Amino acid sequence: MSALDYKEYGANYSREELVKIVAKQMSEKRFEHVLRVEETAIKLAKIYHVDSNMVSLAALLHDYGKERPDKDYLKLIEENPKYQSLTPYGNNIWHGILGALLVRDELQIENEEVLHAIKVHTTGAIFMNLLDKIIFIADYIEPGRSFQGIDEVRDLAYSGKLDEAIALSLVQTLQFLIKKRQIIFPYTIEVYNHFVNLGGN
Ligand code: GDP
Ligand code: FE
Ligand code: FE
Repeated sequence: MSALDYKEYGANYSREELVKIVAKQMSEKRFEHVLRVEETAIKLAKIYHVDSNMVSLAALLHDYGKERPDKDYLKLIEENPKYQSLTPYGNNIWHGILGALLVRDELQIENEEVLHAIKVHTTGAIFMNLLDKIIFIADYIEPGRSFQGIDEVRDLAYSGKLDEAIALSLVQTLQFLIKKRQIIFPYTIEVYNHFVNLGGN
């Protein structure tokens, strides 16, 4: 993957440099997940004709903020009152939406498409471009994940049915969260409604 280049996307790092930066932010296990998301996202990028450089950049950075302590996020919310409504939802929701701010401010990556893909990688969004969708689904289907129903999502994603893959992943994620009595971020439900409607239910 040495041919990857991020300059076009405003990132002044080689892939090697970026990989080191990301590795420092997280456990080895999570870092391996990030590399598998990148590999999966690049496969999808070829199917859906999206630039592999941009996909690699967003994939490597998607969980940049995942291991930040809660207190850091609570401080960030305090400094940016427009994010106050995120307070009850915890790291699951913070690490994407606020993680994108950390990437921008700490790594000086300003590309709006890349930042948006990071921002929405957990919940999805009603308006997602192909980059957003590829990162969202690559995170869900990377080969290290194994749970019931995942192969159907993989088959859909690899056969040109990206929106259907997203709809099914949202169904399964909501079922999983509800079964565990976890708090649901309201926007996750809006995204679910949007994608199940697209599926013609
Ligand atoms: P990861 O960061 O690679 O583990 O994957 P994600 O960023 O996609 O998801 C992180 C966690 O957030 C997963 O356990 C999801 O099931 C969970 N999640 C997704 N949507 C919501 C939501 O609306 N509320 C909560 N509390 N968790 C969610
Ligand atoms: Fe994540
Ligand atoms: Fe992830």
